[in-house]
Amino acid sequence: MKIRSNTEGTMTTLWLAGPIDEHTEQTLGEALKGIKTLALTLDLAEVDYINSPGVRGWILAMRLCPPGVKPRFERCSIVFMDYRSLVPRMTQGGEIASVLVPYRCDACNKDESLLFAVKDLKKDQTPSAVCKKCGAAMACDASDGFFDFMA
Ligand SMILES: [Zn+2]
Repeated sequence: MKIRSNTEGTMTTLWLAGPIDEHTEQTLGEALKGIKTLALTLDLAEVDYINSPGVRGWILAMRLCPPGVKPRFERCSIVFMDYRSLVPRMTQGGEIASVLVPYRCDACNKDESLLFAVKDLKKDQTPSAVCKKCGAAMACDASDGFFDFMA
C-alpha cells in the first residue's frame, strides 16, 4: 500500500492506494502514529485489494490513531466496502462519509462506480442513477450488506 499525506490547518488527509495486505499494519500504523491533527480523513478510493491478514493489520493499525482522532473515511472503494460489510470493525470508531457504489447500464453494457456522500443516501433505498452515455436508468450492483453501515 502506498500512502500520500497532506496536512492543511487542522486536518490531515491520507490517500491510501493499493492492497490492504500483510504489510498494511506497519505502513498504515506508521502513518497514523504520526498524525498531529485531531481531524483525519482517509481517502480509500484507490484501495483495490484486501486479504484477511490485511484486515487484521488494518484493525491493529487503526488503534494507533492518537487519542481523540476519529477518522472520516472518504471515497471508500467497492472492495473496501464489500470487506467492511463482512468485518464491520474495520470502520469502528470512525465515520464513513462517502462511498463508491457499483452501477451497471444494461443498455450499453457498462459498469461504473458512482460516488455518493452518505448524508445524501436514504436508508433502505438505493440511489437512482442515469447512464451518462445513453441516458438509460442504471441498476445498482452493490452486494448484499454493502449499505449495512447505515443501519
Ligand atoms: Zn448506458
